[in-house]
Amino acid sequence: MKKQIKIHDKFFEPFISNQEIERAIAKVAIDINKQYQNKKPLFIGILNGSFLFFADLLKKIDIECEVAFLRVSSYQGTQTTGEVKKILGLDKSIENRDIIIVEDIVDTGITLDRIFNDLQKENPNSIKISTLLFKPKAYTKKIPVDFVGFEVGNEFLVGYGLDYNELGRNLNDIYIISENKMINLVLFGPPGAGKGTQSELIKKRFDLVHLSTGDMFRYHLKNETELGKLAKSYMDGGNLVPDEVVINMIDSRLDYEKGAKGFIFDGFPRTLDQAKALDELLEKKGWEISNMVSLEVDQEELVKRLLLRGKESGRKDDQDESVIRNRMNVYETQTAPLKNYYANQGKHKSVEGTGSIEEISEKIAVAIS
Ligand code: AMP
Repeated sequence: MKKQIKIHDKFFEPFISNQEIERAIAKVAIDINKQYQNKKPLFIGILNGSFLFFADLLKKIDIECEVAFLRVSSYQGTQTTGEVKKILGLDKSIENRDIIIVEDIVDTGITLDRIFNDLQKENPNSIKISTLLFKPKAYTKKIPVDFVGFEVGNEFLVGYGLDYNELGRNLNDIYIISENKMINLVLFGPPGAGKGTQSELIKKRFDLVHLSTGDMFRYHLKNETELGKLAKSYMDGGNLVPDEVVINMIDSRLDYEKGAKGFIFDGFPRTLDQAKALDELLEKKGWEISNMVSLEVDQEELVKRLLLRGKESGRKDDQDESVIRNRMNVYETQTAPLKNYYANQGKHKSVEGTGSIEEISEKIAVAIS
């Protein structure tokens, strides 16, 4: 089965595979074949959702039978509207017939109840209901649901005939809506703590967008943009670029990454004002920071790591020990106090930043979960 998918604005994950669907349909067909020997039932498919189930079920029915369709709709978006509209009626008499209604899903039962009562008025011999999916917790009606493929919970499902605003009906498997859990991680720690390395691993694991303000500024510096020229003197001295500049940069980037499942903020926020601004920016979009993980590494170890990185990468602010020490100092005075800001929101966790890269990554993943 495929991994998580996106339909319109929502994410869905695999729930029932096509193989499982086939097995369930085979069982339903065995029951119907047994119960309707010599009865020549009329299968009435409820469109649109039942079209795949109807076709696959009928392929497994080995008694004489007829087919017909009804078209109704009661969903708009992911919420039942409670209102049933019968759009397309039956084109044959059902008097004295044995009817089997074929539904893709029985939810509240409002649609089914209305169809059942309408059909009952035309004096059939019997009406039974078969459905691929049944939501017993949502069901509010008394009519028995006779042939059920799967009982499911109240979550919104899509695929194999079921749609989300008309998309997804053609999926072979059934998908369940992903909980709207965005991971917005502030990966925190002094320069050299390993935020960039860990961001790469965590980003892949949780399918997040990595936003490193340091990388953004280095990009602008390299391309000699206005922003780059503005940031240069601050960066060269190991000082912070003014809050307003960083916040605007993040703001426009968040607008750009609309469909993201979440973000890793790396090197941002670095001051209390930045942290407050980030909360406001996210709130406007209905998002929030889910976790702040701070990587803890001894200062002398950090200086060693940065000097080595300076040699290997040629990064200017990693080559001069006095600039490195100034960055440490800026971190201690302006940035480290943010731990309290996030601790007060119950979001701060510390992770030991020494050991193997994989071990540290695992600890961060646990902290996030
Ligand atoms: P970094 O790669 O995160 O160590 O950032 C390199 C430099 O970019 C920092 O020393 C600052 O001059 C600047 N910078 C990066 N992020 C920020 C931020 N959130 N606020 C202010 N300056 C920043």
